[in-house]
Amino acid sequence: MSATEFDLLVIGAGPGGYVAAIRAAQLGMRVVLIDKRADLGGTCLNVGCIPSKALLHSTHEYERLRALAGEEVAAKSLPLEAIHRHRQQTVAALRAGVKGLVSRRGITIVQGAATVVAPGEVKVGEITYRARHILLATGSRPASLPLLPFNGISVISSDEAIALERLPRQMVIIGGGAIGLELGQVWSRLGVEVSIVEFMPQIAAGYDSDVAAALERSLTRRGLKIYTSTHFTDYKHGRVEADREGEPIALPAEVVLVSVGRVPYTEGLGLSEVGVELDRRGRVKVDANFQTNIPGIYAIGDIIEGPMLAHKAEEEGAAFAERLAGGKAPIDHSLIPGVIYTDPEVASVGLTERAAAEQGRVVKVGKFNFTANGRALAGASSEGFVKIIADASTDRLLGVQVIGSGASELISSAVAHMTYGGSAEDLARTCHAHPTLSEALKEAAMAVDKRAIHSL
Ligand SMILES: Cc1cc2nc3c(=O)[nH]c(=O)nc-3n(C[C@H](O)[C@H](O)[C@H](O)COP(=O)(O)OP(=O)(O)OC[C@H]3O[C@@H](n4cnc5c(N)ncnc54)[C@H](O)[C@@H]3O)c2cc1C
Repeated sequence: MSATEFDLLVIGAGPGGYVAAIRAAQLGMRVVLIDKRADLGGTCLNVGCIPSKALLHSTHEYERLRALAGEEVAAKSLPLEAIHRHRQQTVAALRAGVKGLVSRRGITIVQGAATVVAPGEVKVGEITYRARHILLATGSRPASLPLLPFNGISVISSDEAIALERLPRQMVIIGGGAIGLELGQVWSRLGVEVSIVEFMPQIAAGYDSDVAAALERSLTRRGLKIYTSTHFTDYKHGRVEADREGEPIALPAEVVLVSVGRVPYTEGLGLSEVGVELDRRGRVKVDANFQTNIPGIYAIGDIIEGPMLAHKAEEEGAAFAERLAGGKAPIDHSLIPGVIYTDPEVASVGLTERAAAEQGRVVKVGKFNFTANGRALAGASSEGFVKIIADASTDRLLGVQVIGSGASELISSAVAHMTYGGSAEDLARTCHAHPTLSEALKEAAMAVDKRAIHSL
């Protein structure tokens, strides 16, 4: 094989693409990984999951210290440079880690914008790379609003919102989903007046209304102003104008963060020229093995159907590579957890109570509040609850939602039980260490049959 010929060519080095590349190399394939960014890791590592969590971490520590130490600390502000230093150091460490893993697997890394010119052929600048299989993993970009185009200064996307060099007096965030809520909390903790405008009747759209209402109450108590059932209408003279159920409102906004979702990124890839089909939402259409309508061209991650989440892209990347090597590699798209990393965190997997009702299922619901959990009280974070939805006749777990400190970690045990077809009884009979937050999961599972020990 020549230097430009490979078994697998991957376009996009995000969590989907680089995981697929590593797994394929582990399975003996000769792989090239191409990204137009100078660094590997894609949206997630460079401008998404990781920098946003670094910002949430340092501002959370600051908030806790202020609460514990009182006025003396409260009077001091946290330098913005310190927050950005922690973000940049975290990202840099992980970039180096991913690059090391990829190179040591013998994967060729190419920097540049790739265009598919024919099945098996991709161009980067003047160089043509050939491969038996091409994997598209080009991810997504922030969606914009037609009435509110990004200008990078007063109307920004999450790309700029993670790297603000100066604190604005006010920030209005259009969209009450994970990204808007997380970044809203980051900047609000540092004194920015943050308002969230959400056109749906609740924030955190994928959750049951009781969970979303509890989150809204908590975030409001912490200083965020949340306007649900509110439509953005205009932004002029430093004010966002909106319609709240027929009543006009105006919110001062030095900066507007548009956080209304993300769209698949397929521009410049040459897909229409090669004949790769997209669906009506611009996502690449694939079959159950991630193959597009063109043999030898595959796609995974944010550019195909499903939740735009890093772990979903990773699962698909590994499963794709294993299937290419002849393996079966199951992947259950109904069990991909979602998390909002605010304080309190919210996490979910499977069906909500509302979705189960829409499917005509008869369910039993168990809930357990963290106020009755010793570890939560000892850690002074007893807000929230666990909610378990089980099938009324088979007792099989259908869905779990958690709101509270540590929800992002707790949800994994629910995912594991559900992956193996577990019932509420299985979870209730699993011994959980004491005192841990996870005991709330066990108690909620017991509450499904009204036999929780530590609640009435
Ligand atoms: C602020 C923010 C916070 C987030 N937080 C979370 C979180 O906490 N948890 C979570 O699971 N998800 C989170 N996400 C979503 C997550 O980042 C994405 O779901 C994930 O990165 C998708 O992975 P991917 O591999 O499909 O694509 P991406 O990570 O988007 O990577 C695609 C790569 O393809 C490259 N590329 C595109 N076109 C070309 C081309 N023609 N040639 C060469 N290279 C190209 C891009 O440069 C990019 O590096 C967050 C996103 C944002 C914006």
